Amino acid sequence: MRDLTPEVLLAAVNAWVEIESPTQDAAAVNRVASHAEGLLTAIGASIERIPGENGIGDILIGRVPGTANGPGILLLGHMDTVHPVGTLAGPLPMRVEGDRAYGPGIYDMKGGNAIAFSALAHLHATGRRPHLPVTVMMIPDEEIGSPFSRPTIEAEAKKHAIVLVVEPSGDFGRITIARHGIARYHLKTTGIPAHAGAYHAKGRSAIREMARQVLEIEAMTDYARNVTLNVGTIQGGTHENMVPLSCEAIVYCLVPLPHDEAEVRAKLLALKSYDPDVKLEVTSGLYRPSFVKSPAIQKLYDHAAALAREIGFEVKGERVAGGGSDGNFTGALGVPTLDGLGVLGDGPHTHQEYLLVSHLVPRTKLLVRLFETLDASFRAQR
Ligand SMILES: [Zn+2]
Repeated sequence: MRDLTPEVLLAAVNAWVEIESPTQDAAAVNRVASHAEGLLTAIGASIERIPGENGIGDILIGRVPGTANGPGILLLGHMDTVHPVGTLAGPLPMRVEGDRAYGPGIYDMKGGNAIAFSALAHLHATGRRPHLPVTVMMIPDEEIGSPFSRPTIEAEAKKHAIVLVVEPSGDFGRITIARHGIARYHLKTTGIPAHAGAYHAKGRSAIREMARQVLEIEAMTDYARNVTLNVGTIQGGTHENMVPLSCEAIVYCLVPLPHDEAEVRAKLLALKSYDPDVKLEVTSGLYRPSFVKSPAIQKLYDHAAALAREIGFEVKGERVAGGGSDGNFTGALGVPTLDGLGVLGDGPHTHQEYLLVSHLVPRTKLLVRLFETLDASFRAQR
C-alpha cells in the first residue's frame, strides 16, 4: 500500500466489514481472523493463532519487527461485532452516502483495524519499519467483555512498553486517555412456590423480593460521581397462576475509579432479602477495571497530538470513555495505553453505524507516524 488515498483505505475497510462476525459465531469470527492473518503474512509478520474455546473464535497475533529491539508496542483490536449475520443483507447494508460509509462494525471497530493494518502495510511497501517492534493482537470476544482473551491480553501487555488501541475515536476526533470500570453482578432470588389461587398465603414470591432489590440497587446510582447501576435484564416466574419460585437479574455498573468499584461491590454483596423466607444470592460477574491517565499516558497523548498537527489536523482533545475496551485491562496494569486511535464516525451497535471517509487518510498517517516515532522513552517510569 504505497499510496494512502481515501479510495484505497475504504476498500481496505470494506474487506473487513463484508465478513460479518458476531461474537457468538466462532466460524464467522475466524473468517475475519484468516483475513487478518493474510494481511499480516503479506507484510512479513510472524503469526501465532491461539485456538478459541467454548464457542469463541481464535486470537490472532502477528509480530512485526522494528528497527530497534523491544519491549515494543502492543496494538489491540477486536474482530467481533454485536451485529448478527444477516445485518449486511438487511438493516445495515454497506454503502457510502456523502462522507459517511455505513456497515456493521465499520466504526466499532473494523475501520480501526483496517487503518492500523494499512499503516503497517504502508511502512512495509515504502521500505520502512516501525521503530519499536509491533505486536498486532486481534481479539475475538471483546463485545462480551473478553472472557476468553483477557489472560492472553494481560500476559502480552506485560511484555510490551506501550499499548495502542484502535477502538473508535470518540466525539468526532478525541483520543481516549482513560476509561471507567464496568462491573456486572448476577442476582437470584428463590422463594416458596404455591398455587396463586388456592394457597397464595403459603407462597413467598421471588419476583416481589427481586422488585424490592431492583429499587434499592438502582437508588445506589450517583450521577454526580458518574456511578450508575442498571438492572438490565430480569427473568422470573413460570406461570401467572403460581407464586414464583425464582427470579434472576443482571446489574451493569459503571464504576469510574477503583474505590467506586470497591464501594459498589461492598454494597451489593451486603444486600439482604426483605422477606426472610426468600433467599437472595448476589455473585460478581465480568469486571473491566478502570484505567486512569498517568504521566506516561499524558506523554503519549501529547506526542500524538503533536504528530497530528504535523500531518495537518487537530485531535480534538482527551476523552474519558464510559464504555469499556480491552484497553481497560492493559491500562489497569500500568502499561501506558492510548485508546480511541481508530476511525471517526458514530452509531456504534446500531443500524446507523458509519465512519467518516474524509478522516481515513489523516488517521492512518497518525498511526504510521506513531509506529515510526514511539521509542523506549515512552515506557512507564517504574
Ligand atoms: Zn469496540
